Amino acid sequence: MVSFIGAGPGDPELLTIKGKRLIDSADIIIYAGSLVNPKVLADAKKDACIYNSAGMTLEEVLAVMQEGEAAGKKVVRVHTGDPAVYGAHREQMDALDKMGISYEVIPGVSSFLAAAAALKKEYTLPGVSQTVILTRMEGRTPMPEGEKLLDLARHQATMVIFLSVGMLEELCAVLRQAYRADTPAAVVYKATWEDEKIVRGTLTDLAEKVKEAGIRKTALTVVGDFLGDDYELSKLYDKTFTHEFRKGVEP
Ligand code: SAH
Repeated sequence: MVSFIGAGPGDPELLTIKGKRLIDSADIIIYAGSLVNPKVLADAKKDACIYNSAGMTLEEVLAVMQEGEAAGKKVVRVHTGDPAVYGAHREQMDALDKMGISYEVIPGVSSFLAAAAALKKEYTLPGVSQTVILTRMEGRTPMPEGEKLLDLARHQATMVIFLSVGMLEELCAVLRQAYRADTPAAVVYKATWEDEKIVRGTLTDLAEKVKEAGIRKTALTVVGDFLGDDYELSKLYDKTFTHEFRKGVEP
């Protein structure tokens, strides 16, 4: 059984207990070295074989898994954040299905959640936005019809943009066609790592500030009025509002 593990955003203490147990007992570890903090592997077995997938092709990764399984070794595949978000994880699972190798997936703390924590903000403020759009800009991977940044921006929802901080100027220019030019926006670089950085601004000045900070990769851009201070209080804790677990008081 191959275990796909979400390693979390960086801080090794944000690994799940289950993920850590599997990593610490693995014979073969394949990890995405470009983004996974090597500290996540600090307690791996001394004789574990560790592969950095950054320099490997899909075929090479699969061959390591197949040989490990055939030799009765415990194989773990460690992805950054949660593997379900831009993890290129599905193609590996499908190949394992074809090879008749079973697998499990251990979720992790995605960087978009670590970014909200770093900012100390909530993405879903009542009266502001109740929807979070996770997306990216078109790069080598084209965006499907209907998912162009401008199409998504028209919803005025909270937006989290992965993999695109290198194109921030263009990104903000597109977003300004749908959001107000003074909509708050922020870039979170290496959320939860020791060298985490946060740059705050608006859709008008963020790109310049991020350039000055020298941030070019491993960062998320978040956009929306959830970064501001105007919102309605939640119904969940409203004293005049009754729900399953609490009786409301008469207003
Ligand atoms: N599966 C990962 C995302 C992989 S795609 C997850 O769930 O987080 C890689 C992109 O994720 C990076 O380009 C960057 O946009 C974002 N990212 C990953 N780790 C990050 C971190 N610690 N801080 C900020 N952004 C991060």
